[in-house]
Amino acid sequence: MSLAFDEFGRPFIIIREQHKQKRLKGLAAHKANILAAKTVANILRTSLGPKGMDKMLLNQDGEVTVTNDGATILEKMDIDHQIGKLLVQLSKSQDDEVGDGTTGVVVLAGALLEEAERLLSKGIHPLRISKGFEIGCDIAVKHLETISESIVISKENPASLIKTAMTTLSSKIINRHHRQMAEIAVNAVLAVADFERKDVNFDLIKVDGKIGGKLEETMLVHGIVLDKEMAHPQMPKVFKNPKIALLTCPFEPPKPKTKHTMEVTSVEAYNVLYEQEQKYFVEMVDKCLASGCDVVMCQWGFDDEANHLLLQKKMPAVRWVGGVELELIAIATGARIVPRFEELTAAKLGTAKSLRELDFGTTKDRMLLIEGTPNAKTVTIFVRGGNKMIVEEAKRSLHDAICVTRNLIRDNRICYGGGSAEINCSLKVNEMADKIESLEQYGVRAFAAALDSVPIALAENSGLSSIETLAEVRKQQIEAGNAFMGIDCLQRGTNNMKEQMVFETLIGKQQQFQLATQVVKMILKIDDVIEPNDMDY
Ligand code: ADP
Repeated sequence: MSLAFDEFGRPFIIIREQHKQKRLKGLAAHKANILAAKTVANILRTSLGPKGMDKMLLNQDGEVTVTNDGATILEKMDIDHQIGKLLVQLSKSQDDEVGDGTTGVVVLAGALLEEAERLLSKGIHPLRISKGFEIGCDIAVKHLETISESIVISKENPASLIKTAMTTLSSKIINRHHRQMAEIAVNAVLAVADFERKDVNFDLIKVDGKIGGKLEETMLVHGIVLDKEMAHPQMPKVFKNPKIALLTCPFEPPKPKTKHTMEVTSVEAYNVLYEQEQKYFVEMVDKCLASGCDVVMCQWGFDDEANHLLLQKKMPAVRWVGGVELELIAIATGARIVPRFEELTAAKLGTAKSLRELDFGTTKDRMLLIEGTPNAKTVTIFVRGGNKMIVEEAKRSLHDAICVTRNLIRDNRICYGGGSAEINCSLKVNEMADKIESLEQYGVRAFAAALDSVPIALAENSGLSSIETLAEVRKQQIEAGNAFMGIDCLQRGTNNMKEQMVFETLIGKQQQFQLATQVVKMILKIDDVIEPNDMDY
């Protein structure tokens, strides 16, 4: 604080705001940022691969999540540090774009930063390091294409798709049943895939779960499972070839839009009003019956009186069907969503082969199952599991497997996993680094070294001696001249990932390299961190 005078000689006080701020500059800023990012990356490192560990995360409400999925771990970790947040977003963008490889991408970014730190201490300018990483990344991404292989994909021959989905699932809790789960995911995608356009509409795949039962009871339904039950317990529970009406109008008397109060002063007046209401209800139900529908699904609820009337009039109904579900049913059954009773006609009804209510063991939970829909495009994966944690993790894992299968339909090229692709790219990048004369050579070499961190982490997590294993596999790759040799995480007795059928999608791997490099470049460009003093982490 200091005292100064303006041009009229009046005193004023200058308060130095800077005092209130913490500031890190230059190398110190780089080092602090790298340290923060490395800490986050190291948390995920032990989760990589088929023998990777799971993390248990607790939220404020005491809800427990157990997961192996990188994006989920970071999302639930509630990271405050600004650089840590960048890694959370990194993993999220990998999840959004590719759907798998969310742990790998963060591990790679962490390794790149570690290498950058080493080079910074040598006195190399961060931008030269960034440039080196960029060159290294380009070489690796191009090289991946040369070592990738195309696989045959068709509806009739889903074997390769199943193998790739199995690789994705091998690290998850549900890996005991990974063949069954992979088949379910692949069949779900194949049922809705458009092979001509090489695309899959995710809206048509619904993943739903219910606690209870065993994981192996998880099933694929060619139709829709709704977490709803018939409105009245005495309504029929099984329909064959039902005609379904979808309504977004409520079963209740109309309410005036403006605020009016109505005074009922006599019993007669009340009775007239009551009769009017009854008449209105009956008309609504009659309109439904007249359209010839066997069951109505209503977006809104209705009270017990309406419910009773529906039962009396033999008009089975389901209430509180969500908007998204209503749309899904409309697509699948060919029904039109009707906003007014007057508009309900036979032409607007949807059809299906069957609609039935499922019940589960001794619980009161019930669900509705609509099967054999004419536009049989919509499928539902119905997950069962002993507790909420398992059901939720199974859903997340299936999501990964579905994404990977979709990626393969878009681009049928694969590369081999178990770190084999990374080792081969690392060899290639190192080879190319020799040809670079400028200072960037160091950055390129560092990129190659960072690539090795993936097989090292895989080996570490599988209880192998990491450096030794890497050296051995690298030698095997050079001797055999192929890119299939990777870490034998499951100790099957061969390092050949082609034989072990550990497949990963080419686009997923390329995306991993590019995203990790991008984030690291961004972190390296920050050389000044200004933050208020009272921020506490
Ligand atoms: P991510 O979230 O990045 O997909 P995962 O924990 O699923 O992380 O681990 C994926 C890594 O594990 C990939 O590098 C993959 O090649 C490797 N991997 C998966 N299954 C096997 C296996 N059976 N043998 C060796 N490596 C495997």
